[in-house]
Amino acid sequence: MDCLFCRIIAGEIPSTKVYEDENVYAFRDINPQAPVHVLVLPKKHMANILEADGATMAQLTEGIKRVADIEGLSKDGFRIVSNCGRNGCQSVEHLHIHVLGGAKLSEGMA
Ligand code: AMP
Repeated sequence: MDCLFCRIIAGEIPSTKVYEDENVYAFRDINPQAPVHVLVLPKKHMANILEADGATMAQLTEGIKRVADIEGLSKDGFRIVSNCGRNGCQSVEHLHIHVLGGAKLSEGMA
């Protein structure tokens, strides 16, 4: 198992867990880009969104909503991002959704 995020999910590499359920694991990004920066990922390995099915996306959506609630983001809002492939600057090839919030974010997307 040479996937960094699979090793984090397995507990082999430490992480700051925010939320976990049967299908989803969420933890703080090691290099936060906002006051709150949490990564939400499926426990099942898949490289990126191109390999995800609808059930996985529904599970991630529920995880994102739970993280938003736990982190107090629901009232003022937040941003989700999922980088995909080389042009998307994806650096870890295990599907993950960035949840960014806790302050007014920049208006630019790219
Ligand atoms: P991406 O560039 O979209 O693939 O996002 C990967 C994210 O994983 C980056 O924001 C990194 O800061 C984050 N990251 C890498 N290694 C770790 C780690 N050990 N614990 C927490 N976050 C990590």
